[in-house]
Amino acid sequence: MLRNCEECNRVFSHPTRSLCNECYEEAQKSFKTVKDYLRENPGASVAQVSKETEVPIELIQEYIQEGRLDVIPRDAILKCAICGSAINVGRICAKCRGDLRSTISTEKARTRDTGDRARSRMYILDSIRDDKKD
Ligand SMILES: [Zn+2]
Ligand SMILES: [Zn+2]
Repeated sequence: MLRNCEECNRVFSHPTRSLCNECYEEAQKSFKTVKDYLRENPGASVAQVSKETEVPIELIQEYIQEGRLDVIPRDAILKCAICGSAINVGRICAKCRGDLRSTISTEKARTRDTGDRARSRMYILDSIRDDKKD
């Protein structure tokens, strides 16, 4: 499927990505820099990480919100990705996690025809599966 890169607007072809190859690699690099920095400096704040890695704060907050960092900045605020309530660990609250579990099979069947909401739910479900592999 052809689409425009969210970052540079170039047309590219990929079934799931919203970034072209180059922007994707660039994004991966930024993510890795932040991740490595936090591994070495687990007590760092969001502002400090941004300053040291030159990755924008918004992007770091995105990584935190998406649950991609195994070490998060000490002043990071975690919110449930579905209902938005504050949580201490993970990316979705216990209640939404329970809801998700029960809808995993039906969501999977419906994702093809539904909108962003179902897609973002699938993303969360995929991330949970990734966690288990670690
Ligand atoms: Zn691009
Ligand atoms: Zn929730």
